[in-house]
Amino acid sequence: MLKAESTEIRTIAELYGILDELYRDIEQDCRECQDPDCMGYVWLLKAEAERLYERGVPLVQINNGPTFIHSFPATFQGKLDLSVRYPVCSQLCAGSRRCGIYEDRPMTCHLYPLGLETKADGMIVWALHRDCLYVRRLEERGLLPDFECRARDIINNLSPQLLEEIVETYRAVDAISSFPDGENNISSLQEVRYVKV
Ligand code: SF4
Repeated sequence: MLKAESTEIRTIAELYGILDELYRDIEQDCRECQDPDCMGYVWLLKAEAERLYERGVPLVQINNGPTFIHSFPATFQGKLDLSVRYPVCSQLCAGSRRCGIYEDRPMTCHLYPLGLETKADGMIVWALHRDCLYVRRLEERGLLPDFECRARDIINNLSPQLLEEIVETYRAVDAISSFPDGENNISSLQEVRYVKV
């Protein structure tokens, strides 16, 4: 049998669609998850920042570098308090626990429980968050290897330009972030490999 030809993922919109397909059965697990919702620093690619700015979503650019959805509290002096480890995303509707910009949510949200992570030795990897209920249930049902295989296919089909944009944005975020309580509970899918284009 001939192997189906993989299609390069060139745009962020294409990536959103493919990730939605990867996670098409996640909703039930998200509904049943007891973890706090949507906390952390939600960073944006340039086009996402422009799109969400147009929509009126509050954003913050830090040190002329990466842009985030603005979810940070203020200090007494009125400055951003960036010391909060897990600020609740400002786009999360408190009552319904639903995302107020769901159709427009950025790549980091489409990706989760996949994401980029920096290992203790500085290596950047594509990683899977093992605390996620969806991941735990895939594992219980013996479906995790197949999921990981499909996730790797997606990663490996990113166009060099799109991969570079994602990784360079992540590097800028990582350079101003610290994780004082250690690495997340992740498993590494593969090292990030790319040549600058
Ligand atoms: S943008 Fe939406 S999906 Fe993403 S963290 Fe915020 S509330 Fe959650």
